[in-house]
Amino acid sequence: MKVLIIGNGAAAISGAKALRQVHGDWEIELVSDEVHPFYSRVMLPEYLAGSVSRKDLYLVDWDFYRKLNIKVTLGTQVEALEPTLAKAITASGERIHYDRLLIAAGAKPVLPDIEGANLKGVFTLRSIADVEAIRRYLGSTNVERVMIVGGGLVSLRSAEAFHKLGIPVTMIVSSSRLMSQTLDEPASQALLRAVREAGLEVLFNEDVTAFDGDACLRGAQLASGGKVKGQLALIGKGVRPRLSLVQGTSMAVDRGILVNEYLQTSIPGIYAAGDVTQSYDLIRKRKVCNGIWPSAVRQGRIAGWNMAGLAIRDDGDVPMNAVHVFGCSICSLGVLNGDETCVRGSFQEENYRKLVFARSQLVGALFWGHVRDAGRYYWLLRTGRNSNGRMPLVWAGEKRRC
Ligand SMILES: Cc1cc2nc3c(=O)[nH]c(=O)nc-3n(C[C@H](O)[C@H](O)[C@H](O)COP(=O)(O)OP(=O)(O)OC[C@H]3O[C@@H](n4cnc5c(N)ncnc54)[C@H](O)[C@@H]3O)c2cc1C
Repeated sequence: MKVLIIGNGAAAISGAKALRQVHGDWEIELVSDEVHPFYSRVMLPEYLAGSVSRKDLYLVDWDFYRKLNIKVTLGTQVEALEPTLAKAITASGERIHYDRLLIAAGAKPVLPDIEGANLKGVFTLRSIADVEAIRRYLGSTNVERVMIVGGGLVSLRSAEAFHKLGIPVTMIVSSSRLMSQTLDEPASQALLRAVREAGLEVLFNEDVTAFDGDACLRGAQLASGGKVKGQLALIGKGVRPRLSLVQGTSMAVDRGILVNEYLQTSIPGIYAAGDVTQSYDLIRKRKVCNGIWPSAVRQGRIAGWNMAGLAIRDDGDVPMNAVHVFGCSICSLGVLNGDETCVRGSFQEENYRKLVFARSQLVGALFWGHVRDAGRYYWLLRTGRNSNGRMPLVWAGEKRRC
């Protein structure tokens, strides 16, 4: 039996490991268009800042693949699939046969349609290659200011990396606050205070309409009519599943590849896991693209077991973002819009905590400062054990119910 895995990230590696646990003798081939061993994308901003080396990003070495007897084909893009013939076609035209296929192709940054976005000096951040391109540019160009387009997690962590490099930063944010998808208003304000105290400029309710420059970037024009000067721009406007390889097949796709609770796609024998999927979200109770590392690991593992012939159901995702940025430790779980909230602590004391309920059901939680308890609430959100009183929902250390 031959299993082909497309990708070499968290979902692909978890899938390969799970498969190998069950079948020591199945043939596994992993194809990726990157050239590195499995590495931490989450730490790319630290690599950009120079606080870790490229080697520190690697989560496995080449021996890992050899020990698991995985054939690795790197620097090779899969361009298309022929599901009726059970073949994947690479960019060089090679046809790779499979009996079972795992698509773990991840996501790519969204590139808004902005005039001048192809100028030298405009970047996104998703891979080691992206960081190294930015570092080469910094080495060859006099960058007096960086423009960060976006106010989410990757934008903030990139802004912090440039700040650590000593380069002034202007953040250009479409919405009215930072991390608007993951924080409540008070937490966004507290984060903004920390960002501004560090000396960054933050512009809200602004969109870039065009990048200016000839050979290299010189600045950006804003929808309000204003202008920002900057020689490097990093666009952090979210990610989109990498779907080009399934185009032209009959696979059911919406924003991502649609998978069932066994991580099967609509085509028999083909599974998908990680950022490339649109999968069931336990809190929103519908299929969404969550794009987070823990989900990629869990989905990859479950897909691997199911490809191996077990029948393991995936309960679904709980959105989760844990980040330490500009001195702020934050953990956000689930969704933060409900009909009832329960708040404790304060930002000054570094112990702001909030629970969010919808129809008496816990749907989200936010922790600022002391984030240690977050794991407990993550499991409450996953298991729903607060809903019927079997586990009374109290704050750690408190006796009365919230
Ligand atoms: C800067 C940054 C910070 C992040 N911070 C966090 C965080 O704090 N917390 C968190 O939970 N998540 C974070 N994430 C998101 C997290 O990294 C992803 O959710 C996770 O990496 C997804 O894993 P994956 O295996 O699904 O996809 P990926 O890691 O994207 O791997 C997909 C692999 O498939 C390869 N590939 C794609 N298409 C093809 C093809 N056609 N042919 C061959 N190979 C292909 C890609 O090159 C890549 O190697 C961050 C991401 C970035 C970029």
